[in-house]
Amino acid sequence: TKACAIALAGNPNAGKTTVFNALTGARQHVGNYPGITVERKVGTAKAGDTELRITDLPGTYSLTAYSQEELVARRVLIEEKPDAVINVVNAGVLERNLYLTVQLLEIGVPLVVSLNMMDEAKRQGLTINVKRLSELLGAPVIETVARTGRGVEETALAAARLADKRKGEKLPLVISYGPDLDPVIAEMAEMLGQAGFSDADYAPRWLAIKYLEGDAEVMDMIRGRDQGLAERLGQMAERVADHCQKTLGTYPEALIADYRYGFISSILKQDVVQLNRIDRVAL
Ligand code: GDP
Ligand code: MG
Repeated sequence: TKACAIALAGNPNAGKTTVFNALTGARQHVGNYPGITVERKVGTAKAGDTELRITDLPGTYSLTAYSQEELVARRVLIEEKPDAVINVVNAGVLERNLYLTVQLLEIGVPLVVSLNMMDEAKRQGLTINVKRLSELLGAPVIETVARTGRGVEETALAAARLADKRKGEKLPLVISYGPDLDPVIAEMAEMLGQAGFSDADYAPRWLAIKYLEGDAEVMDMIRGRDQGLAERLGQMAERVADHCQKTLGTYPEALIADYRYGFISSILKQDVVQLNRIDRVAL
């Protein structure tokens, strides 16, 4: 049998632990990440002829360096490099949940979306075009009801299939951050690439975006590897921050968040979500 490492990521309360329990049953182990109080839950499951080693990541809304939970999730994703990630999302609040999805896709991890809480979503009158959502995200999307186990096995099989593909095959999602940031991101990514950072390690474009977001951990990591490069990137980031403030009255970090939300809302506008109101019948 083959073995692969899978991580479960998602917003708090999206149903990660319920998916984790449905997959691993009693084959689980709870510990702690070294030096911090964040729980580390790992377990095993079978998907076809593949043995899955599954890590239930702490719930996060984003992948910034602002909380221990986000740092842990990020480190597992970037340093342990799971072969695939199952992103559990709450279908009832898709727009908010996709903010994390988009960031996972930007890192470039092979991703399966578990569109969870479909029972609740249906009760609210929501219909989601799964095929279209999957095409627009460039990732498999599977409807699940983790509480009853519906779709969970199919999700695990999809993750095993993704994990089986050769590493590095999945290219990170590229979102446009507009005319003020795109050229700078491209230039920074180019410099990072020339300094030896690669998609197989830390995706250069992701590092450039994090640099513009003022991400302390990424900035420290780059400085630790290449002091000269860190200085040049720091100057570029400062210049673009100045420019954004003067011409747009905003910071690169806020601009980046705006463009991410814009990307998500443009996806959702393409006939992905329909609200079928009962009261329409009465009209
Ligand atoms: P986590 O924070 O992502 O680990 O979320 P949990 O797995 O703890 O789930 C949060 C709550 O949602 C729990 O009360 C679950 O029983 C419930 N839940 C999980 N999946 C589903 C689902 O598909 N449908 C419904 N209705 N509830 C669910
Ligand atoms: Mg949980």
